[in-house]
Amino acid sequence: MSAHTSFQIGGPADAWVRIQDVDELAELVFLCNESKTPYLVVGGGNNLLVRDGGIEGLVLHLEGSLFGGMERVPEGLRLGAGVRLERLVGECMRMGWTGLEFLVAIPGTVGGAVRMNAGTRDISVSERVLEVTVLDPNGAVRVLKRDAIPFGYRRSGLEDAVVLEAVFSAAASSPASVRAAVIGYWEKKHRTQDLVTPSAGSIFKNGPGGLVPSARLIEQSGLKGLAIGQARVSPIHANFIVNEGGARAQDVEELIAAIRDKVRRDHDVELELEVMVVGRFAA
Ligand SMILES: Cc1cc2nc3c(=O)[nH]c(=O)nc-3n(C[C@H](O)[C@H](O)[C@H](O)COP(=O)(O)OP(=O)(O)OC[C@H]3O[C@@H](n4cnc5c(N)ncnc54)[C@H](O)[C@@H]3O)c2cc1C
Repeated sequence: MSAHTSFQIGGPADAWVRIQDVDELAELVFLCNESKTPYLVVGGGNNLLVRDGGIEGLVLHLEGSLFGGMERVPEGLRLGAGVRLERLVGECMRMGWTGLEFLVAIPGTVGGAVRMNAGTRDISVSERVLEVTVLDPNGAVRVLKRDAIPFGYRRSGLEDAVVLEAVFSAAASSPASVRAAVIGYWEKKHRTQDLVTPSAGSIFKNGPGGLVPSARLIEQSGLKGLAIGQARVSPIHANFIVNEGGARAQDVEELIAAIRDKVRRDHDVELELEVMVVGRFAA
């Protein structure tokens, strides 16, 4: 899985399955349920820490023209779950569609962004979602309107479903103004975060409602730059752990435990993981 995650960490999956249509997906989910075989959907792998022993069962990756579709609809854009946010923002700049500029420096796919309710401090995907089509755990395709989805800070309540597509709101504007807004988000992000060294973005959620920055607590605890093996608390952004080359998931998990422990003792705060930790420990 190190080849399929931005952290570049993780042992092998039992099977990596590239899914190109909904019937195939529904059948596999049905078979997995019948045989009690675990499965995990992975998009861009930008919010995942996969353990060194790899992943038991099937890893399902949605791709192909069905899951990569992007279509203008009256209220916005209909997007396949496999659409990369980078491509989406590029298309918005080209066509002059406004409202999704904040996604510029959030790596991943539409499916992962909906599932994680990805966003910045000020705005999250839930504020742009109009409806989401999912495959529910029973294998039924359902269209959920925004109000039926219990979005919260970096959560969607869709933990058991597979996101197939989503309609995001986007309004007509001019390419020049969309481009200017995108550049603004991009520059801010580059000033404050390490977007070059492999990582999974923020390791911990921010404090209540996303309002107390975990980076500040970690920095105040003097942990910036702390390393275990090749995993290091980013010297640029204390809520990032970076892989300096060949880090193991075990190194990252030990670093996470050390950060939690110190922040608990210093600030009486229990840091909650934002990154999804999955898989088996190495034998
Ligand atoms: C450098 C860097 C910067 C980042 N900055 C930000 C930021 O500013 N804001 C932010 O919110 N996040 C940020 N992240 C985290 C990450 O970009 C987001 O969480 C993104 O939404 C992950 O999308 P993905 O497709 O890579 O999801 P994955 O990492 O593949 O999966 C994440 C979760 O979503 C599930 N999932 C994926 N696809 C589907 C699907 N189709 N249906 C159902 N479940 C699915 C997976 O099972 C997993 O639980 C950053 C990450 C990096 C590496």
